[in-house]
Amino acid sequence: EPSQDFIFRSKLPDISIPNHLPLTDYVFQRFSGDGDGDSTKTCLIDSATGRIFTYADVQTNFRRIAAGIHRLGIRHCDTVMLLLPNSPEFALIFLALAHLGAVSTTANPFYTQSEIAKQAKASAAKMIITKRCYVDKLTNLKNDGVLIVCVDNNEDDDHCVLLVAGCVSFKELTQADETELPKPEISPEDTVAMPYSSGTTGLPKGVMITHKGLVTSIAQKVDGENPNLNFTADDVILCFLPMFHIFALDALMLTAMRTGAAILIVPRFELKLVMELIQRYKVTVVPVAPPVVLAFVKSTETEKYDLSSVRMMLSGAATLKKELEDAVRLKFPNAIFGQGYGMTESGTVATSLAFAKKPFKTKSGACGTVSRNAEMKVVDTITGVSLPRNKSGEICIRGDQAMKGYLNDPEATARTIDKDGWLHTGDIGFVDDDDEIFIVDRLKELIKFKGYQVAPAELEALLISHPSIEDAAVVAMKDEVADEVPVAFVVRSEGSQLTEDDVKSYVSKQVVYYKRIKMVFFIEAIPKAASGKILRKELRAKLETEYPK
Ligand code: AMP
Repeated sequence: EPSQDFIFRSKLPDISIPNHLPLTDYVFQRFSGDGDGDSTKTCLIDSATGRIFTYADVQTNFRRIAAGIHRLGIRHCDTVMLLLPNSPEFALIFLALAHLGAVSTTANPFYTQSEIAKQAKASAAKMIITKRCYVDKLTNLKNDGVLIVCVDNNEDDDHCVLLVAGCVSFKELTQADETELPKPEISPEDTVAMPYSSGTTGLPKGVMITHKGLVTSIAQKVDGENPNLNFTADDVILCFLPMFHIFALDALMLTAMRTGAAILIVPRFELKLVMELIQRYKVTVVPVAPPVVLAFVKSTETEKYDLSSVRMMLSGAATLKKELEDAVRLKFPNAIFGQGYGMTESGTVATSLAFAKKPFKTKSGACGTVSRNAEMKVVDTITGVSLPRNKSGEICIRGDQAMKGYLNDPEATARTIDKDGWLHTGDIGFVDDDDEIFIVDRLKELIKFKGYQVAPAELEALLISHPSIEDAAVVAMKDEVADEVPVAFVVRSEGSQLTEDDVKSYVSKQVVYYKRIKMVFFIEAIPKAASGKILRKELRAKLETEYPK
């Protein structure tokens, strides 16, 4: 490595991280031996039903469920798909699988049948844990011997027995004997979570996040004398962000558990309900994504609720404009507001130092400062040379919190993590004089609709499968509410009368709502480089000049 590399690090000193521990041992470390954890304290609150799980309940339950799942034949390193909305069951089952040394591949329960099937097959999931209302979307998997478990299945309901022979009730799982479970030999390098992400290019891929990776990521935020993210056992942390996404799973759920805080679980974001919950439960920490910030800012009803308990509001997953950040601060006068930045593959690699126990002064619009025990550099997108402060380039990350690689895809892995261990994020940004990171653009193809991933390659493959479509390209168009929406450039086959509506409805039937094509532009040919790569920049420029909004 050239010695002139400019490498950025946290202002906080590195700490020693016990990342040799399996994830569940680390997360509940303060409840074992002579730890200071109070297991009678609330860990999970289900806002939908009012159910409460103390730290003792959570630990007993996940161990029992692990034994139950083991009894069904799931072993160390097997993959299980979690197709669940935010719920205590999601948390308990994720922990159970981690405890077993198995892999959770998380998916959006709103996915269509074909999206679920693609991920279930690609990840080689042996079991899908879901709710009865989603079972109809799994019928095409029944012949593959995938075991389906419904968390709300009751004994006299044979609905899912129709699907697979071995269907069991969730109740049965929670009543299993935890002492029955042989202790699995978990290695820190074993995969524990495998969300899907398209990364910088191509189709969604299984992101292998290890025990070591998650433990490191949590520790970077809340361990040490002056933690970067000062969550305490007295906090009530609101969780409406989707738990199938790494931001809620890692930075919120597991990180909160490590600190002994209470997590108030909300199945979906609804502004009024959320404000009511903040008031009722005296919520102290509200993790958000930019569309939620916009909803708070636009609301005329915020004064009707007592939101004064909120002391921390952190945003991530997509670009948050400075104006919006300034506006939301006025609605939560007692709260510190700041951002986090990261990607599924890299871990949460930057968090605002405004959240530190001994906070630093920070600026609006900044995405935080690189996490401790990690390194960041900014490289010129053409030459690859590392750049000094205040110069924009591609952000690269190195640290134990990053993924191990993509499942069964060494090429995509090698394209993302270079030989020196630097993970290339595909984001363009710079580090300023105060170590704060600003994201200014995205180099990669990824489209983010309200923070949700939309992979152009996935939509292009669908479009090209239509008999009247010769070629297609999908790019992002700016949108005030969603931030970005996918639009398609389509080349019709000769003689075809295909309309915009035909194209849109063809795609809508096969994808979750946020991947729907918002506009279609018919063109003669898709601009491509000699290599066959779509010239997306040209298409984006075309959007601005030829099809202004
Ligand atoms: P995901 O893997 O779904 O978490 O998506 C990661 C991507 O979201 C990043 O590579 C960025 O493009 C974007 N992103 C995440 N956090 C931020 C942020 N604070 N500001 C701007 N973009 C962000």
